Amino acid sequence: MIGKLVGFPTVSRDSNLALIDYVRELLAKMNAEVRLTFDDDRRKANLFATIGPRGDGGLVLSGHTDVVPVQGQAWDSDPFTILEKDGRLYGRGTSDMKSFIAIALALLPQYASQLKRPLHVAFSYDEEVGCIGVGRLIEDLARAGVRPSGCIVGEPTLMAPVIAHKGKKSYRCSVRGLAAHSAYAPRAVNAVEAAAEAVAFLKTMARRHRDGGPFDHGFDVPHTTVHTGVLHGGTALNIVPHDATFDFEFRHLPGDDPEALLAEFKACLARLEPEMHAIDARTGFDLIELSHIPALDVSAETQIVALVQELTGNQETGKVSYGTEASQFQRAGIPTVVCGPGSIEQAHKPNEYIDLAQVAECENMLRKLLERMTRSM
Ligand SMILES: [Zn+2]
Repeated sequence: MIGKLVGFPTVSRDSNLALIDYVRELLAKMNAEVRLTFDDDRRKANLFATIGPRGDGGLVLSGHTDVVPVQGQAWDSDPFTILEKDGRLYGRGTSDMKSFIAIALALLPQYASQLKRPLHVAFSYDEEVGCIGVGRLIEDLARAGVRPSGCIVGEPTLMAPVIAHKGKKSYRCSVRGLAAHSAYAPRAVNAVEAAAEAVAFLKTMARRHRDGGPFDHGFDVPHTTVHTGVLHGGTALNIVPHDATFDFEFRHLPGDDPEALLAEFKACLARLEPEMHAIDARTGFDLIELSHIPALDVSAETQIVALVQELTGNQETGKVSYGTEASQFQRAGIPTVVCGPGSIEQAHKPNEYIDLAQVAECENMLRKLLERMTRSM
């Protein structure tokens, strides 16, 4: 099943409908009730399905169907054909995160007709471009009154229960300057310099969080980070540049407020603008939000956490620095934990792989879960 799903090249920018159709047919044989929600162009879909009894409660197994691109990466084998070698399965999406979905789909037929509680699967599109797709699936559930009592997001955690992840907000800032011959620089507005001052301010924010916290040592990077990843501006040294743009992000601890970080940055822009406006009132900064993933912070005492600890035999709980769809389920009132096979270390890289031992561990966990759900509880 892992090989079958990896064989659909569901890179985020491309359609995932062939995979969704395949999964839908599998689920139809289990008398599942299937709900699809689409993107604006109807080229991509989320699939939500209920197997077993209908009604309130039940557990969601959740994963994204999209994968990151392979262009520019040096693969030793075809990324969309699974290769088994030295106790590993190689292929795009093996760790992030088609194996979890595949294992669930492979096990379900044996248990579907005996389930005593609803078992749901939620497979999304466009996770890799900022957790964009799953929002529509969650809205659809709310409209339809489907209220699962817990959710496991199978992102690669080496099968450890993960109860927290950072939130992320990213932005593009464009600077409107005023061009001139560089000999007349004082009569113009230099967009590159204005961008540089704003980026330098972001760096002071980054240093403050690095040196002064707040800290949560459960995360491998134990504080909120501020990062600028792209900066463009200017055309020639003898022209005062009239535009510049830069992209930056906040990756914040669950306890830090990203709106407060943004407000601090906006106050910096407001301090820079009067000097620009004194030359030309049309100059200034424009800010747009690129993506938003809320932080996840689930109490270790939650029932869903206890369940996953019991199923995996792993009493530890972890926190991770990357974002997942878990926070969106959690915000919709569905208690959620992240636990899945494979390592994030292998994700997004050439020669992505999953250890067969991880596949076996995940199979073991899901088998225990499904067996439990066939008994009255
Ligand atoms: Zn993922």
